[in-house]
Amino acid sequence: MPQYLPEPFRIKVVEPIRLIDRSAREAALRAAGYNLFALRAEDIFIDLLTDSGTGAMSQQQWAALMQGDESYAGARSYYRLKEAVEDIFGFRYFVPTHQGRAAENILSAALVQPGQFVPSNMHFDTTDANIRARGGRPVNLVIDEAFNPQSDHPFKGDLDVDRLKAFIEDTGPENIPFGMITVTNNAGGGQPVSMANLRAVSETYHAYGIPFFIDAARYAENCYFIQQREPGYADKSLLEIAREMFSLADGMTMSAKKDAIVNIGGLLCMNDEALFRRVSNELILREGFVSYGGLAGRDLDAMAVGLREGLDADYLAYRIAQTAYLAARLRENGIRLIEPPGGHAVYLDAGALLPHIPHREFPGQALAVELYREGGVRGVEIGSVMFSYEDPESGQMVYPQLELVRLAIPRRVYTQSHLDYVAEVAGRIAHRAEDIRGYRFTYAPKLLKHFTARFEPLG
Ligand SMILES: *Cc1c(COP(=O)(O)O)cnc(C)c1O
Repeated sequence: MPQYLPEPFRIKVVEPIRLIDRSAREAALRAAGYNLFALRAEDIFIDLLTDSGTGAMSQQQWAALMQGDESYAGARSYYRLKEAVEDIFGFRYFVPTHQGRAAENILSAALVQPGQFVPSNMHFDTTDANIRARGGRPVNLVIDEAFNPQSDHPFKGDLDVDRLKAFIEDTGPENIPFGMITVTNNAGGGQPVSMANLRAVSETYHAYGIPFFIDAARYAENCYFIQQREPGYADKSLLEIAREMFSLADGMTMSAKKDAIVNIGGLLCMNDEALFRRVSNELILREGFVSYGGLAGRDLDAMAVGLREGLDADYLAYRIAQTAYLAARLRENGIRLIEPPGGHAVYLDAGALLPHIPHREFPGQALAVELYREGGVRGVEIGSVMFSYEDPESGQMVYPQLELVRLAIPRRVYTQSHLDYVAEVAGRIAHRAEDIRGYRFTYAPKLLKHFTARFEPLG
């Protein structure tokens, strides 16, 4: 059993939570159309839906809020954020955005033409959808080990460089406005990308004149894995590793709701001045002026502090150990996981637990519903609800290789006993897995289905 490192903080403010009884949970599920996004948060006991914007801010961040400068243009808050962004990421230009997806939208609006392709290891759902919304085609080229839940490859987020080269040759670099990589690879289990791979990917894109953007939502956790696992990095500081990582890229998008430990915010950074001008115009049109990007001045200050706290070595050691601990408890209770566990979440292999439920009946959704029914625990399906789509050429449904339920761990929020409870709930479900049935859609929009779809249980 991995050691549960004592939290490197103590609790100063508490938020009550409660477990409503089983019949109330059943009624809540029915009212929500079996979509856990439609539940009321107060009806949830342990909420592991996402680690996005759900972290606990530190006393330094709360203090920074009071320093917020709400000037429309050129606020001190903007310059404090700029200093942190330049210090860590080192790009020549940046704009704040209200979330990561706003950064993705603006980048896609500026660069993607209909019919073009954007490769990555794996695009996250909002990135995927923002590229598609501009008529582009997101392409996932992660290494094969990513799809083997039992492979303990240390960097399962790596992009397959040979396939990338072949893809660029086949497609033509002129049809690839930019290339990406996601660190850590959220859609593929929160798995890290090695520095060696980042360097090879950067060299490949650049050999064809393709700009390289990093989706940096969990860059700090990725830096920690590099420090722990990659030869040559044990003695480097996390800040040094981050600087090396971003020196390989031409820009980045970031949801600050992850490793910057704020409740709202994002970043779009780049080195290209002409692109920065186009981005600025688009930002002003849709989000706000370049020095606030749709955020309050105080949000910029909280982000500036959080960017540095997110790279703290003690915090990251505790955080990654917490994830490993939950994984070990779940394993002990008979749940198969994506191995090794990633940084921010554990991914339950619903396909392995519920082999009698086919892709089209959503085994991941069935397991996610069961976690709530059994113990008031909310996770999220990452499988056919989130990622299946109709192929535009053949009209056939295309299903993802893995049917997962992600239990994401909010930063600095839950304790060891909360995680023990979650593992016990999952263990009870594993005992009655063969009785669990699938679901079908009663409503589903075209893009980002999982947020608003409604379901009914089958048979
Ligand atoms: C959360 C996330 C995004 C989108 O960010 P939002 O702030 O939710 O809009 C993009 N990429 C990755 C890898 C993410 O985890």
